[in-house]
Amino acid sequence: MTIDYFLEREKMVKEQIVVRGIRNEKIIAAMKKIPRHLFVPDKWQVQAYADRPLPIEMQQTISQPYIVALMTESLRLGPTDKVLEIGTGSGYQTAVLAEICNSVYTVELLPELMESATELLGRLGYRNIVAKIDDGTLGWPEHQLYDAIIVTAGAPHLPQPLLAQLADGGRLVIPVGNSLSQSLKKIVRRPDGFWEDQLLQCQFVPLRGQHGWQQ
Ligand code: SAH
Repeated sequence: MTIDYFLEREKMVKEQIVVRGIRNEKIIAAMKKIPRHLFVPDKWQVQAYADRPLPIEMQQTISQPYIVALMTESLRLGPTDKVLEIGTGSGYQTAVLAEICNSVYTVELLPELMESATELLGRLGYRNIVAKIDDGTLGWPEHQLYDAIIVTAGAPHLPQPLLAQLADGGRLVIPVGNSLSQSLKKIVRRPDGFWEDQLLQCQFVPLRGQHGWQQ
């Protein structure tokens, strides 16, 4: 049986994204366009457009499509924005960001994942993504300040370097909590301090590193 991935994507966007209230046209267009099935291991390809996260290599996961859409929408991205992503993983969220804004900086701890993600993103033609293998809880100081920062792994607390690298008016979206459940938070930097909103409860793989889980 061959799968019509174009139809699968149309259905995913209609039944998982739009019905749940995501209205941003650029996000919708990006998710209709990006071949999500190429970002998952072969044996999971038939499930690539299902309403759930899926396993990728190295015991990590590719986020559920709706969570990708919600986090991206919460970043309130403009076309000239510079965005930092922590936790490249499969590279799917990276591609969504690259469709929407000028420059995407992405950091991944595990070389094996970064290698396949950058290979695929290059093959798909993305030229506005800069990637490095490192501990993303330290941010990427050389390219600060960022208009938006997205963390796609669960943190025990807000990593201080990420707050410091946020531009005035900048948005940080990050799951914070314990290993079983986190609250997806949106932080906005204003002249008078950091403002925090809770979006929903979620479950991400752990954010490792110096300002993450230590083991
Ligand atoms: N957005 C990705 C999510 C991958 S899962 C996707 O949808 O495919 C989270 C990723 O965060 C994993 O790849 C994990 O290796 C990575 N990660 C965990 N701690 C990290 C850290 N300190 N710095 C960078 N990446 C980290």
